[in-house]
Amino acid sequence: MRSRFSRSLYVGRQTVTRGMAPIIACVAKTLPRNQEVAAQFELLADLLEIEGYDAFRVLAYRRAAALIRDTAGSIAQLALDGKAKQLQGIGKTIEGKIVEIVDDGEVHALTKHKGIVPPDVVAFTRLPGLGPKTARKIWKDLGVTTVQELRKAAEAQRLRTLSGLGAKLEESVLKALDEAKPEAVVSDRPLLGTALPAVLDAVETLRAHPAAVKVSEAGSARRRRETVRDLDIIATATDAETLIAHFVELPWVVDVAAKGGTKATVLSAQGLRFDLRVVPPECYGNLLQHFTGSKHHNVAMREEAVRHGFSVSEYGVKIVETGEVVTHAEEAELYEFLGYQFIPPELRENLGELEAARLGALPELVELRDLKGDLHAHTTWSADGKNTAEEMALACKQRGYRYLAVTDHSHYLREGRMEAQDRELAALNEKLAPFRLLKGVEANIKADGTIDVPDETLATREWVIASLHTSFDKNPTERVLGAMENPHVDCIGHLTGRKIGKRPGAAVDVERVIEKALETGTVLEIDSQPDRLDMPDAVARLAGEASVPIAVTSDAHRISALDYVGIGIGQARRAWLTKAHVVNTRTWPQIAKLRR
Ligand SMILES: [Zn+2]
Ligand SMILES: [Zn+2]
Repeated sequence: MRSRFSRSLYVGRQTVTRGMAPIIACVAKTLPRNQEVAAQFELLADLLEIEGYDAFRVLAYRRAAALIRDTAGSIAQLALDGKAKQLQGIGKTIEGKIVEIVDDGEVHALTKHKGIVPPDVVAFTRLPGLGPKTARKIWKDLGVTTVQELRKAAEAQRLRTLSGLGAKLEESVLKALDEAKPEAVVSDRPLLGTALPAVLDAVETLRAHPAAVKVSEAGSARRRRETVRDLDIIATATDAETLIAHFVELPWVVDVAAKGGTKATVLSAQGLRFDLRVVPPECYGNLLQHFTGSKHHNVAMREEAVRHGFSVSEYGVKIVETGEVVTHAEEAELYEFLGYQFIPPELRENLGELEAARLGALPELVELRDLKGDLHAHTTWSADGKNTAEEMALACKQRGYRYLAVTDHSHYLREGRMEAQDRELAALNEKLAPFRLLKGVEANIKADGTIDVPDETLATREWVIASLHTSFDKNPTERVLGAMENPHVDCIGHLTGRKIGKRPGAAVDVERVIEKALETGTVLEIDSQPDRLDMPDAVARLAGEASVPIAVTSDAHRISALDYVGIGIGQARRAWLTKAHVVNTRTWPQIAKLRR
């Protein structure tokens, strides 16, 4: 089962031994180019300036970047030989940081500061009239951290409340955001949780148009990758031009970057870029398959097809011997023609799915409708919860769930509040039966590895989640293993603690965690919060292959967030999980029986 993944699969930061450096130094072509090294120092300078560090340090990094760009020889080689500091303006400290790039790929300080400044705030500085100092004010004083929020703040005339900023700057910010160069400001890859609802909504709207016949999202959103780039939509129509004209006029379109008879590219108010292609119905299957990707999947499929005498392109399959081109109106027909089972989009990453589909051995993946309840949610008993237990329960009931574990943060349930909550839940359970609210808690795994709730209190809970919320660099593996040793802990929440695009996951030794989970019968979670999706897909797949029970939970802090399980299920499918892997496809009595 583990052959596909290396023995030492660590999440997040890779451990690279310093002893590697001399070996790398011998292989000149693996050294980072001067441009790359310079770019890291420039970004570091930007980040420090946004954070408000003193001008002297910022300037030192900017000067170093300029110098490195102008150095003729390999700066990395010079640094490894201890000779970089002989260059004017490069001291011992900078030389050490260049060696960090050679050893670990990135200046350590850069990794750290990237985790402090939201990525979009850096993008603010690329807008006309906005430098690092203004970006800092907008971030710190207005709490604006994304390009979307920046647009809203400018529209609401909130930027002019900051000293030195006026109506003119608001105007130029809005103009720049509206102009046809969004890639300069839109953060690199939007989260699936933002992009998927937007693209599914666009697909629905297009489907409702009389000129549309078939419409589907494609690309990485269709594969439910945790982040996406552009949003692709493939359609067939009775009248392509009418459908394209309708598309570019949709109310949320703020810019039309390109428009032709069968194709259009637009930018949404959210800063998302959509590509619509209207294709001939007879090769809809070929084109949808092609534009769904992944590239690796398609390349591997085409190579395999060549060995069977076929030449596959987005327009059809050519039978090489006869020269005949066969097209497919449906994707499933294309896969069948090439000798495969239909491969669900979430599996198309060239990670074994083609081999399995050839043998008819693909797993029957879990589906959203399989879920019978949610095992991680917060209510107003947590300071960050927005809906009451009753409101959350009613929303779950409406979704067809039979139970919801109320797992408020332990630190809000001290001094009698847990008992008070239990009385509330008991009363609600009488009222809402047979629907059931479970008395849960999300406890913190502290820096010293202990859990912040006493055992006798944990013993009163029906569902205990233990999660890392702080000190991710302090022995995360040992702390998680320790939590699993506690017989009252049912589930480990968001295993790595990553925040996509903001904070790398803790360096948790996944294999040891999986072994311990099996030994202790602990459930591991796929937390569906869009910026968590934690466990990551590769880790969840390992856990699933080892038959560790997995919960797909919303970690909702409000009613609307219960929907996040949609992308959590996408992640579970990317991890090859079936209904049997996912504990909350079972009823509560069935789960209760599995508890230790
Ligand atoms: Zn948590
Ligand atoms: Zn939580």
